[in-house]
Amino acid sequence: MTLTDVIEVLEAAYPPARAESWDAVGLVSGDPAQQVRKVLLAVDPVAAVAEEALDWGADLIVTHHPLYLRGTTSVAATTPKGRLVHNLIKNDIALYTAHTNADVANPGVSDALARAVGLAGDLVPLQPFPDDPWRGLGRVGELAEKTTLGEFARRAAEGLPRTSWGIRVAGDLARPVLRVAVSGGAGDSLLGTAAAAGVDVFLTADLRHHPASEFVESGGPALIDAAHWATEWPWLDSAASILRESGVTVETRVSATVTDAWTRGY
Ligand SMILES: [Zn+2]
Repeated sequence: MTLTDVIEVLEAAYPPARAESWDAVGLVSGDPAQQVRKVLLAVDPVAAVAEEALDWGADLIVTHHPLYLRGTTSVAATTPKGRLVHNLIKNDIALYTAHTNADVANPGVSDALARAVGLAGDLVPLQPFPDDPWRGLGRVGELAEKTTLGEFARRAAEGLPRTSWGIRVAGDLARPVLRVAVSGGAGDSLLGTAAAAGVDVFLTADLRHHPASEFVESGGPALIDAAHWATEWPWLDSAASILRESGVTVETRVSATVTDAWTRGY
């Protein structure tokens, strides 16, 4: 398979045209004509992931987060990102990013998150595209049966990969929970949408004190704040399945390296 063949599959699942205008998705490094046998999937394009790719003999790394979100004038190996570019090119490892286009896809980042925390049945976007009700940011769905906030939080923590500080909950732990909204990554722009969706709890990442406090004080849904990396990691397996089921003959591996920024909680 060539890199072009693999990209064709990824772009059918995650059309770049659906990415936000500020985003930087697609091929970061690599020759479209190069052969691809092994694909490593990871959330972050960081040195530890490049090392893993090198050790495993990957030809391509597919990441969720862009390497350069803003422009750069140098890829000299004097910065961590420049060093990474050097390592990848020297070792013939291509790098490809599917970011906000993977967030809004169906299935996308939040579908995988919803399943990981126990949502069953149909999922609909929390904020659908005006022209496509089945694609958009976040997902809303229901648990197989009603439970309490405390029990849901415990199961969500079990369903997500372990990070240094796990998850945080805001709300009455005895509160009944059935209908749940989730959004992978930083979801505080969706707080108002989640409140209007009539859910019992909204699970996302990177929530700040003031918006979270005001949200809970106003009597909205309960909140669960998970590690950013952990909320996006379940998508990697979904993207790997899409590659495997597409007919491209590549070996896939999901990186288990925890690259969340927070490495220790006390
Ligand atoms: Zn993210």
